[in-house]
Amino acid sequence: MKKVYIETYGCQMNEYDTELVRAILQKENYQFVDDETEADIVMLNTCSVRDNANRKVYNRIHNLRHTRKDGRVMIGVLGCMATNFRKALLEDRHLGLDFVAGPDSYKRLPQLLKQVEETGQQAYDVTLSEFEDYADVYPSRREGVNAWVAVMRGCNNFCTFCVVPYTRGRERSRAPENVVEEVRHLAAEGFKQVTLLGQNVNSYHYEGHDFAYLLEKVSEVDGIERIRFTSPHPKDFPQRLIQVMAENPKVCKHIHLPLQAGNDRILELMNRTYTRQDFLRLVEELRRRIPALALTTDVIVGFPTETDAEFEDTVRVMEEVQFDSAFIFKYSERQGTIAARKYPDDVPEEKKTERIVRLNELQKEISLRRNRAEIGSLQEVLVEQERTRKSPNDFQGRTDGNKLVIFPAGNYRRGDFVQVKITDATAHVLKGEVVKKGRA
Ligand code: SF4
Repeated sequence: MKKVYIETYGCQMNEYDTELVRAILQKENYQFVDDETEADIVMLNTCSVRDNANRKVYNRIHNLRHTRKDGRVMIGVLGCMATNFRKALLEDRHLGLDFVAGPDSYKRLPQLLKQVEETGQQAYDVTLSEFEDYADVYPSRREGVNAWVAVMRGCNNFCTFCVVPYTRGRERSRAPENVVEEVRHLAAEGFKQVTLLGQNVNSYHYEGHDFAYLLEKVSEVDGIERIRFTSPHPKDFPQRLIQVMAENPKVCKHIHLPLQAGNDRILELMNRTYTRQDFLRLVEELRRRIPALALTTDVIVGFPTETDAEFEDTVRVMEEVQFDSAFIFKYSERQGTIAARKYPDDVPEEKKTERIVRLNELQKEISLRRNRAEIGSLQEVLVEQERTRKSPNDFQGRTDGNKLVIFPAGNYRRGDFVQVKITDATAHVLKGEVVKKGRA
C-alpha cells in the first residue's frame, strides 16, 4: 500500500480539493500519512493567487528533494500552479517533479501515478473541463464542526488581476439535490455547520435554480444548524437572496464582501463591474434588511496606476462601511492575467507598503471599536475547539457573525451551542463567560 502525504496551500477551495483527492486515492488503496518522511508520494496542492504562495511552493519542492535524496519518493504538484506553470514545473530539472495535475484532473491521479511508476517518466494532466464538478466524489474529511461543500467551480468574471478563470476554468454548478444529499450525509456524520464554497458562490445557478434556492434547500436538512458561504461577488445579490439571508435563521448573518478598491477608475480597470456607489448602496441595503449583519472584505492596494488620491477613495469607503475585518493585500502581478498583459505593475513597492500599513492600521482601529461594542452582549457561540492555541483551559468558538470567541473550559463540547456574555475584546477576538449551555 503506497503512502501519500499531501500539503495544501491557498484558499478553502484547495482545502476542499485536498479532501476530494484523499477520497479518490483512498478508493484505490492509497494510504494518507501525516508525516512526510513516511510517504512514498508527496503532493503539494498549490495556489497561484499571490507571488509569495508560488515562491513558497518552489522552496518547498527544493527542500523535499534535498531531504529525500534517496529518490524513492515521488513528488507532484496539484492545483492552480499546475495549470498555470505546467511546462516550467516539469522542465525544471532541479525540481525533479514526477507528476502535475490541475484542478479538473484529480480523478486521473491514480492513472498518472501508475504511469510514473511503470514508465519512470513524468506524467501530467492539466486539462480544464466545462463539466467536471466532482459531484460523484464524497470528500474524505477530517472530523470537526464545519464542513466545506463546493457548490460550484470555476469563474466567468475575469477580474483583471485574477488568475482563477485560467487555472480553474469556466463556472459550473452542481445540481441542488446532489449538494443537499452531501449535506444530509454531513449532518449524519455529526457536522453542525456547512460552508458553501465557490469562486463566485452567489452566481450559482442550475437549471433555473439560483443561490437563494440552494440556501433554502440546504437549510431544510435536519442537524445542520448553521450555513455560511464564501466568496460572493457584490454583483450577485438579488432581492431574493437578501430576503433568504434576512429571514432564514440557519443562514449566518455574515457576508465576506470583497471591495477590492474604492475608486471607480480602479474598479473599472479591475473589471469588477460595480462602482463605489453601487457597493455602498448594496451595503446600505444589506444592513437595512439584516441589522445584525457582520461584514468583512478583501482589498488590493497598489493596483497599476493607482494614484494617492485614488487610494484615498478606498480609505474613505473603509471608513464609511466600517467592516468588521478585512484582508488587505498588495497588488501582485500574476502571469497570464489581463492586468499582467495590459497594465505595467508601476506602483513602487514602498508606495504599496505605505498604503497597506495605513489601511491595516485603520482597519485595526475599526475592528477594535466594533468588537468592543459587543462587550456586555450575549452571543450564541458554536464551540469549535476544546482548547485554544494559547491555553488548554480555554475553549473557542464562533458567533453567528463569524467572530472568534474565547471562553473558559466547562461542561460543554465541540459542536455544542453556548450563550456567552462578552466581557472583553481585542481587534481580533472576543472574550467572555458562558452563562448558559444550549440555544437561546
Ligand atoms: S470573481 Fe474575480 S477575483 Fe473572484 S475568482 Fe472570479 S475572477 Fe477571481
